[in-house]
Amino acid sequence: MRDIEAEEAGRRLWVNRKILEVMERYGFQLVEPSPIESLETLEAKCGPSIREEIYWFEDKARRKLGLRFDLTVGLARMVASRPDWATPLKLCALSNMWRYDEPQYGRYRCFYQWDAEIFGSPLPEADAEVIALSVDVLENLGLKDFEVRISNRRLVEAFLSQLGLENQEKREAVLRVIDKRGKLEENRFTQELENLNLAAEQRNRLLDFISIKKEPEAALAVLAETPWKSPEAERGLEELRRVVDSLKLLGKTAPCLLDMSVIRGIGYYDGVVFEIYDRMEAALGAVVGGGRYDGLCRVYGRDLPATGTAGGIERLLIALEKAGSIPSSTQAPQVFVAAATSEVRGKALELAGWLRAQGISVDYDLKNRPLKGQLEYADASGIPFALVVGPRELEKGLVRLRDLRKRMEAEVKIEEVPSKVSGVEG
Ligand code: AMP
Repeated sequence: MRDIEAEEAGRRLWVNRKILEVMERYGFQLVEPSPIESLETLEAKCGPSIREEIYWFEDKARRKLGLRFDLTVGLARMVASRPDWATPLKLCALSNMWRYDEPQYGRYRCFYQWDAEIFGSPLPEADAEVIALSVDVLENLGLKDFEVRISNRRLVEAFLSQLGLENQEKREAVLRVIDKRGKLEENRFTQELENLNLAAEQRNRLLDFISIKKEPEAALAVLAETPWKSPEAERGLEELRRVVDSLKLLGKTAPCLLDMSVIRGIGYYDGVVFEIYDRMEAALGAVVGGGRYDGLCRVYGRDLPATGTAGGIERLLIALEKAGSIPSSTQAPQVFVAAATSEVRGKALELAGWLRAQGISVDYDLKNRPLKGQLEYADASGIPFALVVGPRELEKGLVRLRDLRKRMEAEVKIEEVPSKVSGVEG
């Protein structure tokens, strides 16, 4: 875990605002679930094995508690406890979480996510809505070259049953191997499937299936040719068709592919799932991930279908820096009001207050420095304008406005200062 310094905090603020703007545009309401949950809540869906991956402890009252590892669990628990909230309910959150992950490139033990969930809609149109939102979030940030990989856990599981894997535990073991596929060498992948007693024919058919990765219409055509044998498979395919149709209507198919190798770990997902990758920085892993988890709210006492999306802020920051689409610093104030002599310090303060009331961010000297020192400080702090308040100019209702970047100075009327300095970021 690390400290976040001003420069980075400024970039995060810019990113968070861009994300919140889109979530608001889609009609999601911002909430924040508790950072600490009972261990039981955190284990409810994935079982005690989750203890290996999270921070948990006993408090002074000997209650077993844990730090949240995502926002979805808390949101689901929160919604389940409020049967008075009408559905469908669109909730979003943006905050930090903790995982006992091995720290590496793009993987930290404390990190931030933006998250948006729709509770109470069983329709594939709701899955399309969270995918469309995710695409808009990335576009609003200026990311252009990314790929949305969409699949359906229901269809993949139906395929495994059709392969003869009737046992749920075995299917889950195979899903886990598929999920690791990107990180495994080809022969290691085959080896792991062999270890699970999959015959050569089963392995080949599975490999063909999870290799389907095409533009939505082309993939649907290939999937339609498969002789599906169960209502679950038909339902899974129909859900994908409807997601694709809705994305088309929302104008969001361009970055989308159907990719049958997307599983999203074992966790709580049970329907349409997706991951988004930055093509420029594939080593980062997914920048966004999400899907349907109709069974999760039930474990907290309310049977509610749900679907959602979440993206890591740190990974976005890395991707945006590579793409050069993030302002370098946004935290410096717009103006530094400098007093040329000690007699006009009071006037400088008065001006600072007046400019702040006009909505302009302002700083001034808090160390009684001479004018030169004040200007050096303003320059080193990345403040774009200095307003030099001098006794002679004041008599004429003027101040000297110095553009610290262009190294230019002009006398301006005090009333004109707000219009001259606004719109320029630090
Ligand atoms: P998940 O909740 O695991 O589906 O993750 C959702 C998103 O959070 C991923 O797509 C990543 O962008 C990000 N993420 C997950 N784990 C980490 C981590 N340890 N450090 C930083 N970002 C992460």
